[in-house]
Amino acid sequence: MSPYARTIWYKILTQMVPLQPLLALLHPQDPKCAHCHGEEDLAHFVYLCPKKRPIWEAVLSRHLPLHFIRPSILLDFVLYLRSPPSYLPLAKALTLFSAIIPKLWSAHWNLKIHAVPFHEFTITKSINKQLGSFAQS
Ligand SMILES: [Zn+2]
Repeated sequence: MSPYARTIWYKILTQMVPLQPLLALLHPQDPKCAHCHGEEDLAHFVYLCPKKRPIWEAVLSRHLPLHFIRPSILLDFVLYLRSPPSYLPLAKALTLFSAIIPKLWSAHWNLKIHAVPFHEFTITKSINKQLGSFAQS
């Protein structure tokens, strides 16, 4: 896991993610999700946002084609590091998730700060490319 991925995941595990409701208190802005205008909590920020969830599902279905990870189990792992299901070895879960989380993080803040469009297909492709290079090494 890269130091960047570790740092981002640590922010999630320690609930130190600057979510929209907090940002709206600090600077006048919309307290809703920048992508879908839904209520933004940590689960929404990480996975439940309808702009981010398809990226998770596309990447996971490509790299775990025979399995479906229930959202509650995925969130338990990402938010609290509770054990992944038995069909998903811990090392593989860490590899997959540590590729997905930082790319989503970067894309999120690139949209918020630099107005870079959040393109699900491009982000998914970038994650899959990174995971492909892991598989070959
Ligand atoms: Zn959203």
